[in-house]
Amino acid sequence: MTSPVMPTYARHDVAFVRGEGARLWSEDGREFIDFGAGVAVTSFGHAHPHLVEALCTQARKLWHVSNLYRIPEGERLARRLIAASGFAETVFFANSGAEALEAAIKTARSYHFENGQPERQTIITFQGCFHGRTLATIAAGRRKAHTEAFGEACPGFMQLALHDYEAVARAVNEKTAAILIEPVQGEGGVRVVEAAFLEHVRSICDETGTLLIYDEVQCGMGRTGRMFAHEWAGVKPDIMALAKALGGGFPIGACLATAEAAKGMTAGRHGSTFGGNPLAMAVGNAVMDILENDTFLPEVRRKAERLQAGLGRLAAAHGAVFKGVRGIGMMLGLACAVPNTEVTKAALDEGVLVIGAADNVVRVMPPLVITAEEMDEGLVRLERAAMRLAAQ
Ligand SMILES: *Cc1c(COP(=O)(O)O)cnc(C)c1O
Repeated sequence: MTSPVMPTYARHDVAFVRGEGARLWSEDGREFIDFGAGVAVTSFGHAHPHLVEALCTQARKLWHVSNLYRIPEGERLARRLIAASGFAETVFFANSGAEALEAAIKTARSYHFENGQPERQTIITFQGCFHGRTLATIAAGRRKAHTEAFGEACPGFMQLALHDYEAVARAVNEKTAAILIEPVQGEGGVRVVEAAFLEHVRSICDETGTLLIYDEVQCGMGRTGRMFAHEWAGVKPDIMALAKALGGGFPIGACLATAEAAKGMTAGRHGSTFGGNPLAMAVGNAVMDILENDTFLPEVRRKAERLQAGLGRLAAAHGAVFKGVRGIGMMLGLACAVPNTEVTKAALDEGVLVIGAADNVVRVMPPLVITAEEMDEGLVRLERAAMRLAAQ
């Protein structure tokens, strides 16, 4: 049977019908351990009772009103994100990561426009980055497979090698609007950016009036064991994009900014029909309820240690399949010695979901609520997949 859905993904032939915590069940009755969380989205597990309750309660009250009116749930979520960020003073809500990035790019460019420097348009990004699939965000990402079919690239982006300290210092000029970076690259292969590089970039931004934008769409919201991944480095941005786990599986995006950086985002400059709608805001607040619990993130860090140790043993024992472990917190990757597509396939056959990334990596990013037993079971299944691959 051919699918009526555009084949823009190389889909596995499996359909899940139910989930609970870190487990999933497919329509043919098989059970799986979820080590992918739908690409770091379902960080609080499937069917988390608190999130389900928040969504259902809101669904009975009000779904949509339009941003022409105040949305109290959104104001509440914005205040909580601002407080958690320690730098932001204002938030724009969108429906996805790419839209959060579009808002971030517009915020940066309009800041310079407002300052009487409309020529400051260029956004500097780094090799291996991923910022979404809209026309602007593919121009930011510059990956051939993402751009080649779509004509002339959206102007105003340039890209440098990650960790090239001198190149950044040289590249910033009177046309530069912002530097955009993921504190931990996700799609690029789980590459943790050096703290010193973020410090370096921050100081160049400060010296030149350039804005620093973090894309924490994948690495944010507790994934690394801190609310935001950049907390490990202790370097704040001016603007930050969030999405994925912020909605725990409900579509949402957010662009946070300082009041100064957001001064160009005045009435009429940007908008979204659905962004900040009451359903998404209710779920976002429920996510914050979980993350703000004082015991939650320390527990994630403890579990992450166990998972890292387990993956380390797995990689060491199966050198024909895995080269090593990388990442931070529960944002982990196994560098593969065989094609990563074969690893994701074999893992799925053994009942554990992992997700491919560039650099021939498979990502291991379970729901943060996964239990020790589920982690161990997932590791056993990964080991079986490794043995199966090594025997081939
Ligand atoms: C997933 C992702 C995006 C894009 O998010 P969408 O919701 O797919 O638009 C942007 N940046 C990063 C770092 C991501 O991981």
